[in-house]
Amino acid sequence: MSDPKPQEAGASRILAEMERIKRETPSVTNIVEAFEGLLLERERIKGEIETPEPESALTTDPARLSKGIPAVGRAGFAIPTSRLKDVYYRLAPAMIKGFPGVRPKLEVLGRAFNDGSLDLEAAIKHLLADRQNQVEKIARAARVKPDIFSFVLGQIVRPFVEKEAERIGPSLSDLHWDKGYCPVCGSWPSLSLLKGKEGRRWLKCSFCSHEWTHLRTACPFCENEDLETMEYSYAEKREGERVEVCHKCKRYVLSLDMRDRLDQTTTAATSIGLIHLDIIAQDKGFVPGAVTDWNVLDK
Ligand SMILES: [Zn+2]
Ligand SMILES: [Zn+2]
Repeated sequence: MSDPKPQEAGASRILAEMERIKRETPSVTNIVEAFEGLLLERERIKGEIETPEPESALTTDPARLSKGIPAVGRAGFAIPTSRLKDVYYRLAPAMIKGFPGVRPKLEVLGRAFNDGSLDLEAAIKHLLADRQNQVEKIARAARVKPDIFSFVLGQIVRPFVEKEAERIGPSLSDLHWDKGYCPVCGSWPSLSLLKGKEGRRWLKCSFCSHEWTHLRTACPFCENEDLETMEYSYAEKREGERVEVCHKCKRYVLSLDMRDRLDQTTTAATSIGLIHLDIIAQDKGFVPGAVTDWNVLDK
């Protein structure tokens, strides 16, 4: 028997994590299942992206990094525009299955893609450069709902962005980086992970999924190191899961101690399983340091 294809290996790791989350935290089953098909298909698409030849690998500039300038930056990701529609049609069924209410909005979007009234390429550029108002402007011009358009664009680019970060990440591992934002793309982290014997703290990028080490006791968002103004909240009987809040900047990051979870091989769905901690932090008036697909909670 041959080994499973890499894209299937990645998808089955995510599936195993989702099964574990549902087993350990049954209250989030619905939301895990809503995102299940989408995360799996994104992972398969990522696995199918061909890696460029080594000679085109990026050379990272230690001097720039030491000044706190990310290696690529969000706007620097190369997204092959010829594949965007194809990726959209791969992801749309999973979105409809997970969120049946979006079907009519996606139908409008699909028509706009096809009749050319929507400038997908420009929209992706604005999304990468974090110009949300420009993304919304393009959506409104094509009579597409801005919220669904932004969500869909984020899903379409994610496999390419993550693949690129996987390629660049290893070249950064020996370089000094003490910032709370991602050394690859400059986005804020959505997760804080404790790993290894010494329990080093790793931050995971909310956009490209790259992970980097960071001071264990500092707030990633404002560099606050005053322990008097930092607080950890736990849910009852959930050792190892916590939310780290900072009273100085009023932001928080979800955190998982992975030292006794050696069998856990991915954190793709981890923050969905910690939504109960989003609720605790947001009820206290803190805001997530990074917006994810699932942490903007309805009030
Ligand atoms: Zn990143
Ligand atoms: Zn802070």
